[in-house]
Amino acid sequence: MRPSLPEPVLLTPGPTPIHPDAREALMRPMIGHMDPELFALNAEIQADLRVLYGTAPEAFTALVAGTGSLGMEAGFANLVESGDEVLVCANGSFGRRMAEMAARYGARVRLVTAPLGESINPADVAAHIDGVSMVAVVHGETSTGVLNPVPEIAEIVRHAGVLLTVDAVTTAGMQPFRMEQWGVDYAYTGSQKCLSAPPGTAPIAVSERALARFSARRSPVPLWYCDFEGLRDYWVEHTYHHTVPVNLHFALHAALRAALQEGLEARAERVRQLGYAVVSALEPLGFSHYVKQPEARLPTVLALRLPEGLDDTIVRQALRTHGISVTGGLGPTAGVIWRLGLMGEAARPAPYRALMVALETLLGAHGLVRRFEAALQGEPLSA
Ligand SMILES: *Cc1c(COP(=O)(O)O)cnc(C)c1O
Repeated sequence: MRPSLPEPVLLTPGPTPIHPDAREALMRPMIGHMDPELFALNAEIQADLRVLYGTAPEAFTALVAGTGSLGMEAGFANLVESGDEVLVCANGSFGRRMAEMAARYGARVRLVTAPLGESINPADVAAHIDGVSMVAVVHGETSTGVLNPVPEIAEIVRHAGVLLTVDAVTTAGMQPFRMEQWGVDYAYTGSQKCLSAPPGTAPIAVSERALARFSARRSPVPLWYCDFEGLRDYWVEHTYHHTVPVNLHFALHAALRAALQEGLEARAERVRQLGYAVVSALEPLGFSHYVKQPEARLPTVLALRLPEGLDDTIVRQALRTHGISVTGGLGPTAGVIWRLGLMGEAARPAPYRALMVALETLLGAHGLVRRFEAALQGEPLSA
């Protein structure tokens, strides 16, 4: 325990505070990874993931035993072969991570980029899609707070008849994700982001088309641990592949149930309201949206440009003494922006109220809490 420190207030874009149901589920006594009770729980996870991702009934869903990056890697490992042309939309650090992974699995990578803080232009995807076997895009780019237009990109990809991989780490679970309707073939997230489960499992979804592509591989999957065939042996055939992290399955199951019980539309609305309240409270201090186009703003990672004269390092260090963690920018945006996470249990009024109270003290500013509360109630702003 850390008696001298206050309760942690995590406002980072992951990990998010653990959901109470998930915390309780973590404490359940251990059962075997081949126990029929666990297979029954796994089947519920698979069914709930179909709802979370909006998949077709034939889609394969599962957890891989690692964080979101393993979900990313599993897609390239299974669906890319040496020499394949892969188009990666890279307008931030997670897009670049995708490109790096695709290249390591032998892909010839074509990059489509966008200026920092802007979304991918679907026309650029259309212009470079000839001859590729897969397009990969990050739905919500955490590094810049940009939402990429996945439905529009998906339409282009569908016409070209190639596979579409989507990083859904900051979106699935906080807003409706329509894998079947949009035409997404592979999607993944990480348990510790929108679902507020502990880190360590990555929920994945694989379309029937992607499974067919997988079955037509010329060479074995280089990543044995996440080979779709091996995953299906365990999740569908109930034969041993590797020991799954049983207690993380318990926790993910509970967190996923809680998310679906609340409803994805309701969660999206919760994020929208809270995001509005946070911006309403901070704007008069000189904070402004880093992403200029409103439709390119990722609701779950609020990227705010800092006011002139606010010292990023000093203020965030001071917030730490109040137990509050805030994430700054990366690379070119370091010292320029804050990235406030509005995912899972971080997207609640209480932790952001704590931020407003602390900032009133630290900056000697007035009215933050009052503006925050008023905006939460949906009242029009008074100066
Ligand atoms: C956090 C994140 C990842 C990587 O997840 P890890 O759990 O850190 O491995 C991938 N993509 C996006 C968009 C993320 O925000």
